[in-house]
Formats: sequence, structure tokens, C-alpha cells
Amino acid sequence: MDEQDAIVQGDLLIRDGLITSIGETGQASDIVIDAEGCAVLPGFVQTHVHLCQTLFRGAADDLSLLDWLKKRVWPMEAAHTAASIKVSALLGIAELIKGGTTCALTMETVNHTEEVFKVVAESGFRATVGKCMMDKGDDVPAALHEQTETSIEESLALLEKWHAKGDGRIRYCFAPRFALSCTSELLSRVAQLARERNVIVHTHASENKNECALVETETGLRNVVYLDSLGISGRHVVLAHCVHLDAAEFETLAHKQTFVAHCPSSNLKLGSGIADITRMLERGISVSLGADGAACNNRLDMFTEMRSMTLLQKAMRGPEMLPAKQALRIATIGGAQALGLENQIGTLETGKRADVTVVDLNSLHSTPCPANPVSAIVYSAQPSDVRTVVIDGQVIMRDRELLTIDERSVVHDAAQELADLITRAGIEV
Ligand SMILES: [Zn+2]
Repeated sequence: MDEQDAIVQGDLLIRDGLITSIGETGQASDIVIDAEGCAVLPGFVQTHVHLCQTLFRGAADDLSLLDWLKKRVWPMEAAHTAASIKVSALLGIAELIKGGTTCALTMETVNHTEEVFKVVAESGFRATVGKCMMDKGDDVPAALHEQTETSIEESLALLEKWHAKGDGRIRYCFAPRFALSCTSELLSRVAQLARERNVIVHTHASENKNECALVETETGLRNVVYLDSLGISGRHVVLAHCVHLDAAEFETLAHKQTFVAHCPSSNLKLGSGIADITRMLERGISVSLGADGAACNNRLDMFTEMRSMTLLQKAMRGPEMLPAKQALRIATIGGAQALGLENQIGTLETGKRADVTVVDLNSLHSTPCPANPVSAIVYSAQPSDVRTVVIDGQVIMRDRELLTIDERSVVHDAAQELADLITRAGIEV
């Protein structure tokens, strides 16, 4: 699809990392990828994941948010080493690429975020990464409980070292975990620093009813209004979830143009609820999509999220809601806008960076493919249909073979690292 959402048949030419022509045929190139019978799409952009949690897949099922955090996720994050984080990030990025995602916004844990940046740099993936910030909270393991100043210093050091590196593929964001894990001092400092340094703030908000009630008891304000009162709002802020909002919070999001990262599968699996993104979209609030972590999904693919998102809105509001084309836009340019990268990625347009996903539409479950392949992409396709992925002009996966990550060794190492991590965490899974 081109900038007018038109479907174009022909070649897509990439030079020096940029898309240089669309639709013309027969131009010479060093590398030629045959995409006959395939849809060539802008890569998916996920705006809420936790690469550090990929290793926890299946180790934190069937719990609600606060128990899930306190009984499983925080103890496991606290038990991470540099080696286990590295494997977790490799596993996550490998899965994201194999499902056609070329860019992600990821909140990491308190420690070892450096390892994630190294994996992003070496894999060729595009990511905005933030070290998790936590200077407050009940039942937080000692290894995750930070002093306010230390949290800020470590975040700034990572920002200095990694932001805008890898030819701009790698970006930093401030990632305070959520209102219950952060002092108001930390949140206001982050708000100020993000504006000064021109980087994104990414946090969780209003995911779970109990979380909202606790924030209201502590602060006297609804979650989104509280964050806004400290300066955590605006076009550089991406709030994950926003499931439980009152009318004033919808108004605040719309007025400040704060971005929402919708995570339908995670919200369903943690029993958190269903975000009213139809109402958000009607109010002009920008919505993008993310899988959240493997500890609460347990998949990291955009096909599952696009389909779940649109089906949920149809169930709530009627079958006409959120048609396939709108879902595909949310999964691509919607994510790019949330990251402030809409001039670089998110659509296939000449002059943009070449982040491209090739989806095979010849599989049984996509056949017969309608004249408009968007239906097949949103409602029928699966991650295993992604054949080839290009990020920043580099072929990262070709004919389902990852070219920058050794898939077999990642799968092998992940099992070993998880076993060791569970022992260190001292939890029963
Ligand atoms: Zn999350």
C-alpha cells in the first residue's frame, strides 16, 4: 500500500537503507527478493513490549496484575543476570522479527539494560529502549528497589551512550514502571528531563482496577490525571493499557495528545479488562499496538494483536467497528507516530527508511485471497506466513531464516537460562 493506502503491484527498490521507488519494474539491484504472491508491507511497529520478560513465558500464567508482578515477575526480574537478559532479548527480538515486527518500544527491568541495547545493535532490529525506573512500592525485591537519584543517573548514562546510535535505529526512552512503583519526585524529574533531552516517556497506566484504586487512594487523583499533573503527558508520552478511564481521563489524553499503547491479549490474559479504543479513536486519541511481554501474552506477534483488537471492538460496539484497514494502520504508522518516527518508518513511501515485511498469502488459511489483501493480513494471516524482513535496508530474515540471530542456539540457551533463573529467584513455577 502506498501513502494513499493504494495497493501497488510492482517492485520496491531499496538503496542505502531508503525506499527509492515503488511500483516500477525491472530496475537493477544487487539483491533481488522474489515476493510473487506476497504482500509487501511496512514492518509492524509494537509500542509496548518487555524484552527482559521473554524468558518468563509460561512461568507467570493465570494471575491478576498485582499478584503477577509480586509473586512472579518482580522476583524473576530481580534474579536476572547480564547473561539471562541477553538471551531473553535475543529470544524476544527473534520472535518479533519472525512475526514481521521491525520496531518496538520496550520497557526493560531495573538492571542490565545495557545488554538489551547490545542485542538490538547487533541484531539489526529497530528499538526504543528504556531502563525500568522503580524507587517505591510494596513487596519490591531489594534488587529492583532504587534510590531516586541512582535511577535517574543510570537512565541518563544509558541515554548518553545509546540514544540515536546504530544510524538512528536505536533510541532511548525514560521508563518509570507505573505510578505505584515511582515517587512523585521521580515522575516529575523524568517529565522535565524527557522534555530537555527530547526523548519519549513510556509507562504503564490504568491497566487494572485495583491499581487505579490504589493510585487514587495514594494521590487523590485518577491515574492519568495524576500523571498529567506531574508532567507525564503530551506527544512524547506513550501510556500502555489505559483500560480503566473515567471521562476526565479521556479528556486529558485527548487534550494533551498523549499516545496510548493498546495491548489486547495481555489485557485479556491478566483479566484486566477491555480498553475502549473505539472511544479513544473517536476522541482523536492516537492508539498503537503492542504484545506486552511474553510473561502475560504469551505471544509477541502483531497478527494476534491486530485480530484481537478488532474482534474485541466488534464484540463491544458492533461488527462495523475497526475495519481491517484501520487495524493495519494502527499496527504500522500508528506505532511510528507514537515513537515520533512517522517521517522515517510506518508506511512504504519513497524517502523513508526501508523497514519492510513480506507476508506470503498463498497459505491454506489465507486462500482464497480477496482482491484486497488487507483482509487476509488482518483476519487470516499468521506469523509463520512472514517470509522475509528488511530493517533499515538490511535483510534480517530471508525465506524464514534469521540472518543476524542464531535461532537454534537462542532456543537452547533460553531453556538453560530460565532453569537457572528460577532457582535464583527461589519461586515455584
Ligand atoms: Zn507491560
